Amino acid sequence: MDFIDRSNTALQVLWDYVRHHHTATVRSPAFPALLALSGYLLFCTPFALMDLIGEWLPLFFKYKIQKSRPSLHMMGQCLHQAVFNHLLYVLPAVTINWFWHPPAPLPVRAPTCIQLLAGVLSCLLVFDFQYYCWHLLHHKSRWLYRNVHAIHHEYTAPFSWATQYLGGWELLTVGFWSSTTPLLFKCHPLTTWAFMLLSVWMSVEDHTGYNLPWSLHNVIPLGLCGGAPAHDLHHQNPNTNFAPFFTHLDWVFGTANKD
Ligand SMILES: [Zn+2]
Ligand SMILES: [Zn+2]
Repeated sequence: MDFIDRSNTALQVLWDYVRHHHTATVRSPAFPALLALSGYLLFCTPFALMDLIGEWLPLFFKYKIQKSRPSLHMMGQCLHQAVFNHLLYVLPAVTINWFWHPPAPLPVRAPTCIQLLAGVLSCLLVFDFQYYCWHLLHHKSRWLYRNVHAIHHEYTAPFSWATQYLGGWELLTVGFWSSTTPLLFKCHPLTTWAFMLLSVWMSVEDHTGYNLPWSLHNVIPLGLCGGAPAHDLHHQNPNTNFAPFFTHLDWVFGTANKD
């Protein structure tokens, strides 16, 4: 109980700091998109360095699932696509959303630790289901695959920057779910941002190509999370492992592959 009380107090201190010093920033229409983009850049960078160093750092390279390494050109191509998508699709979308649905005043109270954890988990489970359905559909329909999702499968050996090597429509769909799913549960802004950052982290982990012992899928028990091994198999054999985060949907619907 003491630990939970201290966590609740820490969240309130953090929230008070945000409210008193950064209200204008966090209420900006671009803030959620900038948060997700910053998370992507920050989370990808250490894995990109590991890829560049490669065999010279066997401490990490021994965990590489496919031993091929991305070139600087491949990394640059992914970064270029991410910047292009944000300028052409995300920026106009957040601007339209600003006029259509202006952000509400910030609440005074922070969420409790339990509320934050329950909110993040609920959002992750719903997002996992939404993306599973979208992903399955875009592999089963030849037209949708060719015109929307094929770009993401250009690389059969994923690497961190390839997380956002997506078509504009796919990024907009993912962004729409990331921003609307927390509304379903009336999440506090802190909970929403925690969900967004964790979903970016889990997406990056999926694409790193490293099966590190401390990765979430190895830390969370019972194989509940697929992580890089599952998603690496999806890039090698695209008719399996459609769920982005958890494994239960692929098991229930018979699309799981653990080879
Ligand atoms: Zn992928
Ligand atoms: Zn796919």
